[in-house]
Amino acid sequence: MDESTKDQSAFASPDSMASLDFAKMALESANVGIWVMDAESRNFTPSDRTKELFGFASHEEMSFDDAVSRIAEKPRQAFLSIVDNAFKLRTSFYAECPVVIPPDRKTEWLSVTGGFNTSDKTNNYFSGIIVNITEQKQNDLRRSKFIGIVSHELKTPLTALKAYVQMLNTWAKKQKDNFSLGALSKVDRQVKKMLNMINSLLNLSSAEAGKIHLNKQAFSVNDLIHQVIEETMFVTSSHNITIDECPDVNIIADRDKIEQVIVNLLSNAAKYSGKDEPIEVACTIENNAITISISDKGMGISQEDIEKLFLPNYRAETKEIEKIAGFGIGLYLCSEIITQHNGRIWVESALGQGSTFSFSLPL
Ligand code: ADP
Repeated sequence: MDESTKDQSAFASPDSMASLDFAKMALESANVGIWVMDAESRNFTPSDRTKELFGFASHEEMSFDDAVSRIAEKPRQAFLSIVDNAFKLRTSFYAECPVVIPPDRKTEWLSVTGGFNTSDKTNNYFSGIIVNITEQKQNDLRRSKFIGIVSHELKTPLTALKAYVQMLNTWAKKQKDNFSLGALSKVDRQVKKMLNMINSLLNLSSAEAGKIHLNKQAFSVNDLIHQVIEETMFVTSSHNITIDECPDVNIIADRDKIEQVIVNLLSNAAKYSGKDEPIEVACTIENNAITISISDKGMGISQEDIEKLFLPNYRAETKEIEKIAGFGIGLYLCSEIITQHNGRIWVESALGQGSTFSFSLPL
């Protein structure tokens, strides 16, 4: 077998060689790496380009563990859980990870896509592609730095505005001026909405720079959920939010950040479901962890979109979603916050039937 066909042997039967030659040519010109792995034996076959992307020479052996050892230490475990989960459930996955390339320890960003090869009878082969996305990541970082600066500037006058609204509110109450009280309550609602948006943008820029700081304290999950529901009903009065009785436990976590996660999930449930449709919040304790779930009866999400939902700026590409305003950063932030707490966030959904977003935190 000559060198140029060596890479393909793991992927092809002889009669499919011609089309594979074609596919290989296209992938090489696009600088895309390919790989195959036997899910049973974990035998890993990378293409030359895949080796190169992980900083190995084409003549060197590179096992799956060798490749993983080049992923930066912090996100390595998260990457392995994504792959293990896809192996277990036989689903496809998409992950973006920084790899550290010797000898000068330069960081490059790779996107890794994988899925089961359903045409293979043994149904054991997992294969996928790898692309270098460093340039795109650097642009994202520059953009989020800019967003961080602008949001910070916008927050200062808005915080002052909020304080003045509160002062005027107290004054109007004393004067029993109902017209002003009504108008101020509307102003307050809009200021709160805008502050929520600005806080999300600020957190996005910290998350992308890997700088989410947690300020942990003990608090009651039950109290937090009730407070968030009350405030969400104030801003989003169109939905009926109900709560299954939540066990009264304290957890040690960053209260403001967990609040932000619940606010995001609740406002998405309202945003992506019809007016007056019910939203349910449930809370369970199992295996020394608390799980909070938020269910809606809205438009639901396709399997293909579910895999990418927690990536920054990702929005499902449907006609319905296009009509609804959003930046696609809320779920990314939720996932960053929950991962920082050593928790887990996931979604179960079916198109047209609704979605349940859940997250669990260790007790
Ligand atoms: P945004 O809502 O601003 O677009 P998010 O990160 O909160 O950003 O959500 C990302 C995408 O996930 C949304 O654009 C939408 O496609 C999908 N999504 C999130 N929550 C729901 C939900 N409850 N029902 C249906 N789709 C949802």
